[in-house]
Amino acid sequence: MDFELAEEHRMLADLVQRFVRDELLPLEPAVMEREAKGEGSYLTADEREKLDRVSRDMGLWSLDAPEDVGGMGMPHVALVAVNEALGSTVASYTLPPDSPNLQMLIAAVSNEQQREAYLEPYARGETISAIGISEPGAGADPSGMKTRAVRDGDDWVINGRKIWITRAEECDFTILMALTDPEKAASGGMSAFLVDRDTPGFNVLRRIPMLGGEFT
Ligand SMILES: Cc1cc2nc3c(=O)[nH]c(=O)nc-3n(C[C@H](O)[C@H](O)[C@H](O)COP(=O)(O)OP(=O)(O)OC[C@H]3O[C@@H](n4cnc5c(N)ncnc54)[C@H](O)[C@@H]3O)c2cc1C
Repeated sequence: MDFELAEEHRMLADLVQRFVRDELLPLEPAVMEREAKGEGSYLTADEREKLDRVSRDMGLWSLDAPEDVGGMGMPHVALVAVNEALGSTVASYTLPPDSPNLQMLIAAVSNEQQREAYLEPYARGETISAIGISEPGAGADPSGMKTRAVRDGDDWVINGRKIWITRAEECDFTILMALTDPEKAASGGMSAFLVDRDTPGFNVLRRIPMLGGEFT
């Protein structure tokens, strides 16, 4: 594989570096002060709002979303350069939309209704997603997953516990992995479900503090 950045991707990386220098680095003192007080190294809603506005004006949204839903469809090599630049500051900010969850899963397997309801708003940066795979006792090896999805007429009833789910509290929906056939388990007995945040029984019990003052 060729890891050399193409000219257009180098220009993108330069643009993100400029965004980091002009917009994120000036926020570092405030972020570090919050962390020193034990509050965590977060950006406030006002700070995020301004960053969202500026990054959108700079054309830095939807870098990872597929082109046919309005994204830029950037390859992973380009996204590494983008994230390298964003990772160079303690003022931690994710360019909207929030993560490659949808690109990887929904774009690959969704039907028309799911594309309209989930993928397109995501590509416009209007929704926040999470991905729920890890469980207590099934982290690096998800084949030990216990969360169970059982058919109930037209519905699925899902029971189980997940852990370490980034943005679980603020997300609009979670792509949640569950066992549909425990006998097959990791050999064809697991599925991904789109679970809306307001689904009855979807509870976020606690935030887990991480080194560096962030939470998952
Ligand atoms: C900041 C943060 C954010 C995260 N966000 C998410 C998220 O959004 N969604 C999500 O689903 N998960 C998330 N995770 C979970 C992350 O994917 C898991 O932590 C990771 O898979 C490791 O699981 P674990 O910590 O339980 O370690 P363990 O599974 O206990 O693994 C510990 C060690 O044992 C090794 N090991 C475990 N099982 C095997 C095996 N069968 N064979 C060989 N070696 C093995 C591992 O490689 C590792 O070295 C997040 C974790 C962190 C720290």
